[in-house]
Amino acid sequence: MAENMKNLHGKHALVTGGGRGIGEAIAAGLLLQGARVTIAGRDEAHLQNAVRRLLQMGEVNYVTLDVTDEGSVQQAFEQASKRLGRIDILVNNAGQAQSAPFHKTDAQLWQHMLAVNLTGTFHCTQQVLPAMLKAGWGRIVNISSTAGLSGYAYVAAYCAAKHGVIGLTRSLALEVATKGVTVNAVCPGYTETDIVREAIANIVSKTGRSEEQALAELSANNPQKRLVQPVEVADAVVWLCMPGASAMNGQSVAVAGGEVM
Ligand code: NDP
Repeated sequence: MAENMKNLHGKHALVTGGGRGIGEAIAAGLLLQGARVTIAGRDEAHLQNAVRRLLQMGEVNYVTLDVTDEGSVQQAFEQASKRLGRIDILVNNAGQAQSAPFHKTDAQLWQHMLAVNLTGTFHCTQQVLPAMLKAGWGRIVNISSTAGLSGYAYVAAYCAAKHGVIGLTRSLALEVATKGVTVNAVCPGYTETDIVREAIANIVSKTGRSEEQALAELSANNPQKRLVQPVEVADAVVWLCMPGASAMNGQSVAVAGGEVM
């Protein structure tokens, strides 16, 4: 298809945590729809490798940032806008999932989960919203989790942060509803990325179960009895960014094989 016929031609999308996992799949999906894409994260080597893989799909660049640090976010977003233009699409995907029983969840773990998953989303959204409102067009997609819609044992801090992301999504969506900007959340179930690989290694080391048993345990909540694939999450995100999804606002779309929440 000719570049200028693609759905997101002319748009600049920034994907936090775009150097691997779900974020890289989202970056690829947006590039294939014609967007220029900036991926952002802390690890420059990861980002450079991802840019090499993604370059064949379109115009892509990277910036380094730590979403927990407001100054670093501001600097990175300014750099991204200077290089590829106003940010029309923001995907708040950067996240971390640390588990612990509640009595072992200290204030540091609690604050860290909120800082990365919730305050990071706040910092990045603050950077892009004024220009989106001025332009009268924008798409913000927040990657929450099924843990943003439902409680799970041993992840109270992560769950609280991801529930917070849904609250932020719903409120902001109402605030900007008449301004051409939409704000939605996508809520993956267990998806085959480093987060799940680490969770499996953790279960194996703490319980002595085999990798197969640990994988079966994580897949048990998914009625399809499998892990979600990053590209399946990415497809939902890309759809929410399309011109045709303009009536989708304030929604939390679960990509979890039919898990009832
Ligand atoms: P990965 O661990 O593969 O990727 C996480 C990404 O977030 C990395 O690119 C990492 O980049 C970035 N990141 C982490 N901390 C920071 C930070 N402080 N500042 C900037 N970037 C950061 O995980 P997934 O791809 O699986 O996760 C992506 C999102 O999906 C997360 O929000 C996660 O909570 C959510 N999710 C994942 C599920 C799963 O089962 N995989 C299920 C439900 C939700 P770097 O290290 O370079 O900073």
